[in-house]
Amino acid sequence: MRDSASGPRVLLKRLRELMQEPLEPQERLDRIVRDIASNMVAEVCSLYVLRADSVLELYATEGLNPNAVHLAQLRLGQGLVGTIAASARPLNLSNAQEHPAFAYLPETGEEIYNSFLGVPVLRAGRTLGVLVVQNKTMRHYRDDEVEALETTAMVIAEMIATGDLERLTRPGLELDLRRPVSFTGLSFNEGVGLGHVVLHEPRIVVTNLFNEDSEEEVRRLDASLGSLRLSIDDMLERRDVAFEGEHRQVLEAYRMFANDRGWVRRLEEAIRNGLTAEAAVEKVQSDMRARMLHMTDPYLRERMSDFDDLANRLLRQLMGRGPEDVAASLPKDAIIVARSMGAAELLDYPRDKLRGLVLEDGAATSHVVIVARAMGIPVAGQMKGAVSMAENGDAIIVDGEEGAIHLRPQPDLEAAYAEKVRFRARRQEVYRELRKKPSVTKDGVQVDLLMNAGLAVDLPQLAEAGAAGIGLFRTELQFMVASTFPRAEAQERLYRDVLEAARDKPVTFRTIDIGGDKVLPYFKGSIQEENPALGWRAIRLTLDRPGLLRTQIRALLKACGGRELKLMLPMVTELGEIAQAREIIDREVRHLSRFAHHLPTSLKVGAMLEVPSLLFQLDELMKAVDFVSVGSNDLFQFVMAVDRGNTQLSDRFDPLSTPFLRVLRQIADAGARNQTPVTLCGELAGKPISAMALIGLGYRSISMSPASIGPVKAMLKELPLSELEAFFDDNLMAPAHGLPMRALLQAFADDRSIPL
Ligand code: PEP
Ligand code: MG
Repeated sequence: MRDSASGPRVLLKRLRELMQEPLEPQERLDRIVRDIASNMVAEVCSLYVLRADSVLELYATEGLNPNAVHLAQLRLGQGLVGTIAASARPLNLSNAQEHPAFAYLPETGEEIYNSFLGVPVLRAGRTLGVLVVQNKTMRHYRDDEVEALETTAMVIAEMIATGDLERLTRPGLELDLRRPVSFTGLSFNEGVGLGHVVLHEPRIVVTNLFNEDSEEEVRRLDASLGSLRLSIDDMLERRDVAFEGEHRQVLEAYRMFANDRGWVRRLEEAIRNGLTAEAAVEKVQSDMRARMLHMTDPYLRERMSDFDDLANRLLRQLMGRGPEDVAASLPKDAIIVARSMGAAELLDYPRDKLRGLVLEDGAATSHVVIVARAMGIPVAGQMKGAVSMAENGDAIIVDGEEGAIHLRPQPDLEAAYAEKVRFRARRQEVYRELRKKPSVTKDGVQVDLLMNAGLAVDLPQLAEAGAAGIGLFRTELQFMVASTFPRAEAQERLYRDVLEAARDKPVTFRTIDIGGDKVLPYFKGSIQEENPALGWRAIRLTLDRPGLLRTQIRALLKACGGRELKLMLPMVTELGEIAQAREIIDREVRHLSRFAHHLPTSLKVGAMLEVPSLLFQLDELMKAVDFVSVGSNDLFQFVMAVDRGNTQLSDRFDPLSTPFLRVLRQIADAGARNQTPVTLCGELAGKPISAMALIGLGYRSISMSPASIGPVKAMLKELPLSELEAFFDDNLMAPAHGLPMRALLQAFADDRSIPL
């Protein structure tokens, strides 16, 4: 074997020349394996490529029987080659035939070779094939030789990914990289979207693989690592981030990794073997990702995604790029595929080009999902592994009804979904026709269907969906998508726009509900909390920071001059909080009237019912406020003691179960008893089956995402309410046959052809 420093460099240089020569793909592969064999002084070099049917096919060989090319094959997991592909790890053996996994393929004539070194051909952590060298003598390949072969495999991965080898596949067969694949997870928003993959924070594609001068590349790497470390230290020192729990842990982990000597050593080694600094980052990352994929420890896997982010940051530093301006190059039918995403990031994409969103993580009530719902795009979540299987530009279907996605779908599946989309469009047409129809049950009882909103982008939906008004305006969304506290004027402007869009329809503004899972990165006062959902949030926080509340209330009072202002307080736990808030409101009213401001014609103050403590003082609550709105997302979380953002538990408990339905009934009854209007504005109102249950329990006003109004109205029109009331009289305290309430409600609807 040659000198390790010059060997790989010469080889990579040779490969670069080969890549540029106008050769047929087979000829190019044949020359590549020949050159690798000669460079590594090996008698054999073979390339196996993974097909979509999980078979590794011999694509080129130097040293084995040439007639075996495209004939010799092994299943994934079979033989040494199959073992390497399945485990994504190299095998380095001085006597291959003694290895328990050795499988003899007579057509190749390989029994005369003893030593064996095979490495996986990896791209973004996926195995695309296996590259092998063999020698007759019994030798153990050195670490730098393993490293050199891995580097070479990276070049081959690029050839496979760019489609260079596709012409070599036999008819009817496909390479694994193009394999159609489906994932099932959870539906976070209904609808079906057909389009093309846009990877959020796309993996940076490194095209410049070979360096001209290793020392210069190492210097470039060091400089970029230096800036990366500085930028992390910088972020850690900024008070706003430093005091915020999860962010800090992630950044601490980043800092640790960025200083990890093993990582830096592997990067430098890859550069000394001839790669550019960028390609070295990509290679080291790909090896690590592939190895981590086989780990089951969730902590380590989590760390891996931190490491991925870090590697991406380092690549950006090296390439001198800021965050990409994806919007400009977006296809017109973009489906965003992301590990996770903040609400503001989704808003960076132009709505008219979005056809869907796929998340590896997330929960139905996370903010990006709430925003996606407001934008009316289908969302599928919990799609583990989707990011590494998808390439930018791949065809994809998001099925937001089943909670599934189909990557690179077969034509018949695509046709079936296209039909589904047409069917939905026809149904939307029906909903549009319902828009102007009265919102009454089959037996003529009026139910107000309102919509939830929070941003200017939501407003056009008011007319489009035919909502009776805005039942919940989440004012904190303006704060969450801003980079600093929105000034009083900006707040007032937004509230005026909302009221203008609503015309004479009612709007309920909720005072800012931050804290918990709604983090403002610029809020200097945020503290690290063990249990943020139970912590310093919503009304608790704004009563402690009355300046924030006063500014907002003043902006609302001014914007509502000459019309009614409905103000709602989030996360009320005890009645004293309502009294305190009223004092602040009254003071602002007095202040504005002193300066002869145009005041609202009437002011109604309501409380959100989200904390169970209020359930034990319902009559007092109803007397203390002008209206109550049930925040079922939080109320359910606290009644069932189940974190609303915990995906592990998101399907475990049912809001349509007897205990929660009984809670909802008690609230509606208390409202009626005290003549205090009660509404409900959590996600529960948006599903026809749960909306039906709410109406049966006495709710006459519910607020939901705009896209839900059509389906809920279609249900309402067919609902004989008196029969449903009788159903609850019979079943709420003693469900028939001990069946789950959801099943009974479904049967009730099916028996009466109520569309759910
Ligand atoms: C709720 O908790 O149900 C609610 C409407 O508030 P949010 O989802 O904004 O917490
Ligand atoms: Mg809430």
